Amino acid sequence: MSAENRAEFELVSEESAANLFAALMPRVDQQTIEDELRGVPPTKLDISHVSKWFREGVVETHALDDVSLQVDEGEFVCLVGPSGCGKSTLLSMIAGLDFPDKGTITSDGRAVLSPGRDRMVMFQEAALFPWLNVIGNVLFGLKLKPNLRNHERREVAMFYLKLVGLERSAHSTIHELSGGMRQRVALARSLAPNPRVLLMDEPFASLDAMTREQLYGDLQKIWQARRKTIVFVTHNVREAVCLGDRVVLFSPHPGRIREQFKIDLPRPRDINSGALAQHASEITRALKLHRDQSSEASD
Ligand code: ADP
Repeated sequence: MSAENRAEFELVSEESAANLFAALMPRVDQQTIEDELRGVPPTKLDISHVSKWFREGVVETHALDDVSLQVDEGEFVCLVGPSGCGKSTLLSMIAGLDFPDKGTITSDGRAVLSPGRDRMVMFQEAALFPWLNVIGNVLFGLKLKPNLRNHERREVAMFYLKLVGLERSAHSTIHELSGGMRQRVALARSLAPNPRVLLMDEPFASLDAMTREQLYGDLQKIWQARRKTIVFVTHNVREAVCLGDRVVLFSPHPGRIREQFKIDLPRPRDINSGALAQHASEITRALKLHRDQSSEASD
């Protein structure tokens, strides 16, 4: 059996096992689908005095230094800074994929010790399974939900495909999709388990400007409709101002928070608006200032 066939076989077997399990277990609540789609209260994140070092042989990189950040329930926070300032490292630690050497990260007061369905991550590359079709990829995110039967999982998957405007492409293969459509599938897959926090690592960086603009609009609508706490990593200041309630500026060597900007422009925001450009140029000025200061310090 080829690797692709085996993976598909395993997926189908796991789905059948989950179905059998669901069929044998008494249903506690008949409202599963409604509950599933209702949305969940967003989480408050508390990052407190976090430091992180990476060691490779004799080389040690001080990736983050004493980073403290609170993200309110339902807040959309953008982390901005040049490459290497520790944004992705911080996001991985909030996801529970890596751990601080110093300091703590809590989600609604509970320490983050491992990845969890309540905190989903979306990366720059969609990382979809090419041997599954569109709905198969979204269903993959739902396969660990034993309280749902197969047809219910499909209903949930279709709900999220509709939300990202892809219901007509449910049965397309991944190869047939444009870059923007792939990121929409990845977004649907991240939203389908109904997480309380969405962690996004430069998800639109590889897309052309027009596709990105469409997705900015869609993401704002989805965020307003589903009320998630979102932490969004980018090095694009305009993108951050377009999406964030707050923009948090990092500087590198080691990664530190330098300054924070509250963005109170009305939504949905247009990335080409004058008001947005004004905020963006203020933040870009600050970013350059901090970059110059940190390169002087490391000289
Ligand atoms: P950013 O997302 O802001 O570009 P990263 O979080 O990826 O920054 O990286 C911060 C610093 O930590 C960089 O100097 C990077 O080279 C280093 N780093 C990140 N991950 C690892 C790793 N797994 N091993 C060694 N160094 C790493």
